[in-house]
Amino acid sequence: EETEPVEEVRPQSPVKPMTATEVKVNVSIPEAAERAAATGADGVGLLRTEHMILSLNQTPEKFIEEHSVDAYIKELIQGIRTVADEFYPRPVRVRTLDAPTDEFRQLEGGEDEPEEHNPMLGYRGIRRSLDRPDVFAHELEAFRRLYEMGYDNVEIMLPLVNDAEDVYRAKELMKDAGIDPDKRKWGAMIETPAAALSVEGMAEAGIDFASFGTNDLTQYTLAVDRNNENVADRFDELHPAILRLIGTVIETCREHDVDTSICGQAGSKPEMVQFLVDEGVSSISANIDAVRDVQHEVKRTEQKLLLDSVR
Ligand code: PEP
Ligand code: MG
Repeated sequence: EETEPVEEVRPQSPVKPMTATEVKVNVSIPEAAERAAATGADGVGLLRTEHMILSLNQTPEKFIEEHSVDAYIKELIQGIRTVADEFYPRPVRVRTLDAPTDEFRQLEGGEDEPEEHNPMLGYRGIRRSLDRPDVFAHELEAFRRLYEMGYDNVEIMLPLVNDAEDVYRAKELMKDAGIDPDKRKWGAMIETPAAALSVEGMAEAGIDFASFGTNDLTQYTLAVDRNNENVADRFDELHPAILRLIGTVIETCREHDVDTSICGQAGSKPEMVQFLVDEGVSSISANIDAVRDVQHEVKRTEQKLLLDSVR
């Protein structure tokens, strides 16, 4: 028997509270799947695929050149399956590749990456995917095969979209890849003010869910680099402007029967949990170590709302 690292054995209350708002978990590496599932989370609100790719130590293009397209697709399938198996039938929201060029540049083959003055404002997320549909098609082929294998709990989440146009274009590529968007659950991350203000069009484009990526939404709304310590004190995920954007999105989504969720770090903050539950968010996704606390905060907030409503 192996002993678990210290941070993995934090005591947890044995009783998972029942809540109307779902509480999910973020997973960044497939190896964490078992521990994530053990939290009792209602699913995975964000499965990052970057690690699956970056750990190959080659850019996708380089890996494909040295190995094969099929080997690339199999790497993705393997990573996603590990998590989808652990959670089945609980849903797993898999985000399509979202690494900035400065991270790709560290890899073998990275010298072919564009050199960008502002990688965070540059060639990443859905922008890259739509610009390189040939590469994106391999990711989508991985999803298609997973569906064919019966993983109907897998959902597709698109990062860094700005508007309905991005969503329509991605949807077309899904269809081209043999995925029926009407049969599968898929959605968009709300990470830019433009996205927040365009969610109605995205709903019309057919998204099933909108998920707040508050790490980026905060960075882009407040123009505060999330990795710059000089302005770290200005990185306020609870800034009234952010809350206003989030509130509007939740309201619009409710009118269009679109689920709402948060998968940014702010989802672990009690004040954010209270705000979101109050606004009627469908689910909150938190890091593994924060899930239990969020479950209890959600429960407390729901009870308070109930009491307030009968008072
Ligand atoms: C976010 O931006 O809040 C998010 C969840 O995505 P990432 O942190 O991977 O950019
Ligand atoms: Mg993000």
